[in-house]
Amino acid sequence: MTDESRFAEKTTLHLRNLATKSDAIKTMYSFNPEFEDVPADTGRDLLNEKTNSPLFGTVRKFDGRLLVLLSYTCAANCRYCERQDRVGVGLDRVGRLRPDQIDDVITYIANDPSLYEIILSGGDPLMNPKGMEQVFDSMRELDHIKVLRIHTRFPMQSPQQVNLDLMRRLATAKPTVYLSLHIDHPDELTPEVKELIREFRAMGYILISQSVFLKGVNDDVETLHDMFLQLFQLGVRPYYIYHCQRIVTTERFEMDFEDEVRIMSELRERMSGLAFPQHVLDLPGARGKVVVPTNHWKWDRSVVHDFDELPLDTDSWKVIEEG
Ligand code: SF4
Repeated sequence: MTDESRFAEKTTLHLRNLATKSDAIKTMYSFNPEFEDVPADTGRDLLNEKTNSPLFGTVRKFDGRLLVLLSYTCAANCRYCERQDRVGVGLDRVGRLRPDQIDDVITYIANDPSLYEIILSGGDPLMNPKGMEQVFDSMRELDHIKVLRIHTRFPMQSPQQVNLDLMRRLATAKPTVYLSLHIDHPDELTPEVKELIREFRAMGYILISQSVFLKGVNDDVETLHDMFLQLFQLGVRPYYIYHCQRIVTTERFEMDFEDEVRIMSELRERMSGLAFPQHVLDLPGARGKVVVPTNHWKWDRSVVHDFDELPLDTDSWKVIEEG
């Protein structure tokens, strides 16, 4: 099978060095033919992102916010990626939004005063530095856009290649610019990465983190306690930890939901509230991230619904078909 037709193995020199010392890094990035030697399902729309796309490269599911998928490549491919129907494969293999496509997105934003927050994601938006600059420069002129957000994993994958001058310029595009770091294991917090985080703070970013529960990587209290505490001490507010999206190639990473709730309940007892992220389900076929309670409440695991009150089957985390 060619690399164009499936979500290929892709790593960086930094990760390859780290993987010699860390099983977690190896597990997160090593292609596993036993589970992954299948074509990418480019038709999949796991989180309704394709059906909620007002124009190419955007996702709009919520009032006031627009997600811009600036790039469809990453410095490295995480084997549990929920967007592996698009990242590096299929029709979007061209890799990034072109300047004319970004102009269309900017026009769309300029014409909708109900939008107040623009979120750059991907793939990884740092793989399209010119595109980031194009979007952020235009946002300086738009008074109705109050908050900008960048979601990236690039600093953990290739810290030496982060363009600090660009990041410094982007941080000033609005008074409030969030930088969300996707990080899943404390081994990713190398001295270079910690130094970068300190630089980002000095540039004025508000720093948050997002993580995914991963079997065989961060499926225990001590690992997550270590990671969240380090992030908290570095000035990064842990924001979300997700249940891993189940598709055929990622099932091996999906944790037992009860274990996740138990771990979060124990963490809540041990951590400052500011170091403790929201545990969320991004429900396939539904809308909105549902926050999971801890075991400090008695609750019925078999019943959950999304923001539109669609009932969900908790065994498959899918919308229950009517009739
Ligand atoms: S960095 Fe994000 S988008 Fe890229 S492969 Fe990893 S999880 Fe997917």
